[in-house]
Amino acid sequence: MLIIFDLDDTLVDTSGCLIYPKLEEALVKMAQAGLVLGDFKEALAQLRRLNDVAPSAKEALAEFVEILGADPQFLTIAMQEMYSEEPFLFALTPLEGAVELLEHLRAHHTLALVTRGTPRVQMQKLEKAGIDSPLFSKILITQELNKKKLYKELIDELVVSPDHVFVCGDRVGPDLTPAKELGCRTVHMKWGRGRHVILPHPDIDYSISALADLKEIIAMCSSF
Ligand SMILES: [Mg+2]
Repeated sequence: MLIIFDLDDTLVDTSGCLIYPKLEEALVKMAQAGLVLGDFKEALAQLRRLNDVAPSAKEALAEFVEILGADPQFLTIAMQEMYSEEPFLFALTPLEGAVELLEHLRAHHTLALVTRGTPRVQMQKLEKAGIDSPLFSKILITQELNKKKLYKELIDELVVSPDHVFVCGDRVGPDLTPAKELGCRTVHMKWGRGRHVILPHPDIDYSISALADLKEIIAMCSSF
């Protein structure tokens, strides 16, 4: 089997370790620039709730500024903070069982990583989380939201039948729908924004809350 993983909120806890602290910093910066918030903790809780159901942090921040009826310049300030490429100040932890799972699966299967972002930052995340990059036969990093082209490249290059390919990710649209379109099996990780997906979903074959559950799914399908 070829098993393709997403990185953020599938193997590493991006929401908990990076997104939430960044949102808080963005809020601090907006407040310092004069945005009237009332109670800071309440405002932060509201911003997190918006983020959990928004397609991206950018859209959550835009909605937040709009709800407050504030000047759009505050969004610019927030975005500068949110997406600044400063070296990581945060510890990034893997999701529970991620390293063990990868080491176990690697003994019997081919593993690949297809992740969205900049190469420097995504490789830094792997390192921070203690996930050895050689665990993956291929690592593809893209700026595009939709991963279909890269999945297709991997399938062609490794010469595997799509029904022998699993794709595991937290986001349905960018991660799982393109995989389903190619005939791969899809595993939805309930983490980050993936927690808010309404199930059952036509593009999701399996949905897991713990990475360890993937071991059984793969074992079950490999024995057919
Ligand atoms: Mg993700």
